Amino acid sequence: MEKLNQLKNILQEVHDIQMAQNLLEWDQSTNMPVGGALDRSYQMGTLAKISHEKFTSDEVGSLLDSAAKEVSSLNSDSDEPCLVKVAKKHYDRERKVPTQWIEKFVQVTATAQTVWEKAKADSDFALFEPHLTEIVNLRKEYGTYFKPYDHVYDPLLDDFEPGLKTAEVQEIFNAIRPRQVALIDAIKKAKPVQDDFLYLNYAKDGQWQFGMNVIAKLGFNFERGRQDVSVHPFTTSFGWGDIRITTRIDENYLPTALFGSIHETGHAMYEQNIAQSLRRTLLCDGASMAIHESQSRLWENLVGRSYNFWSHFYPDLVKIFPSQLGNVDLDTFYRGINYVKPGMIRVEADEATYNLHIMLRMEIEIALLEGAIEVKDLPQIWNEKMQSYLGITPANDAEGVLQDVHWSGGMLGYFPTYALGNIVSAQIWDKVAEENPNLQDQIANGNFKPLLKWLSENVYQHGSKFEPKDIIKKVTGNTIQADPYMRYLEDKYKGIYNL
Ligand SMILES: [Zn+2]
Repeated sequence: MEKLNQLKNILQEVHDIQMAQNLLEWDQSTNMPVGGALDRSYQMGTLAKISHEKFTSDEVGSLLDSAAKEVSSLNSDSDEPCLVKVAKKHYDRERKVPTQWIEKFVQVTATAQTVWEKAKADSDFALFEPHLTEIVNLRKEYGTYFKPYDHVYDPLLDDFEPGLKTAEVQEIFNAIRPRQVALIDAIKKAKPVQDDFLYLNYAKDGQWQFGMNVIAKLGFNFERGRQDVSVHPFTTSFGWGDIRITTRIDENYLPTALFGSIHETGHAMYEQNIAQSLRRTLLCDGASMAIHESQSRLWENLVGRSYNFWSHFYPDLVKIFPSQLGNVDLDTFYRGINYVKPGMIRVEADEATYNLHIMLRMEIEIALLEGAIEVKDLPQIWNEKMQSYLGITPANDAEGVLQDVHWSGGMLGYFPTYALGNIVSAQIWDKVAEENPNLQDQIANGNFKPLLKWLSENVYQHGSKFEPKDIIKKVTGNTIQADPYMRYLEDKYKGIYNL
């Protein structure tokens, strides 16, 4: 296994550089003063260049071929053959992208991110527009390295969801759209539930303390991770032993920080429960963005917004906020946190409307790449789509087209994975519930260990050893199916709104 070991040494160094990049990015989003933006963009560009050059060298190419022969007699599901196979896939993909493109992309997006923060704060799309135009052009150029493709959006989608095609996503979305719209219509006609108590003043300290307690009980490992505050919540990894999450706290809206924390904890627990044997390899990662998101959404919604979850945690919350919640009973609270109301902000959207926010973004991204629309027209297009899908129009661009961090980071192609994550979360949940009939009792008792153990054994431990469709097949015996998620939504809201 001489060649394999040589290959591993190089891959480990590449991994080290990438983890250091994550650390620089994390610092940029949490602590860095604005003056650091330019220097940081150079540093990230340099590191990206070094790791790309190191990984895409001819030497790695020939080591991959030799190592593939060395591991050919091993069980194909074991770590080493998977490492070689996945590394080869990444290698082939990255060889197609010139180093100059990557360097430029990293620099452009690092600057764009800082500009976007200011543009969003001032609700000034014109400030961000030239940066986004540059990003869209770079992403178009990126697509050309992967010709031929069925659709110009395919190469971008493939970055986040290996093997999935634009047409397949459109088919899944077309299947759920009418049921989701019908559900929202039925809820609109029903008597609204009460949620005014969520908008009272909740002191930051109390929110932080409660959230930290909840995520510890869910199973976030604080010896191998920590939580901080940032503008846009996210999870990142500095290596197997250090997974970071962030949240943001809104003193006048209770759900923001808590459900943000639970969501990121879902991502983090996935990474924290990858097998240690995959440490310092490119397999020490989630299988794909949709699988990752299926886990954040599973913990956030199927667990965190369930009645049984709150029957356990609600008394603790009332103790921290007695004047706000002392007169709100558990049932009212549960209905309140599941209030369905078309809103402007995707990250605060309820489960019934969430996927429509995603469909809007995906349609815009596809039209931008096809050249059917221009960046300068985005505010207007965004507002028109919001009106037609959700019946509301943003008052300004901060709560409209500027709300998400993704485009400033160049992540076109990412959004669909959120909706797919929702869909997959229900498929996996059905399977857990089938194999563990006591699941709901355990949740009501604040015992999340059996759930975390099941998910770790069936999903998390494998890291990115297997393709997303193989994981879904292994766990559910099926391909991505929209029906379990729609049934989950319909059943849940039937109870809450007496539909
Ligand atoms: Zn997420």
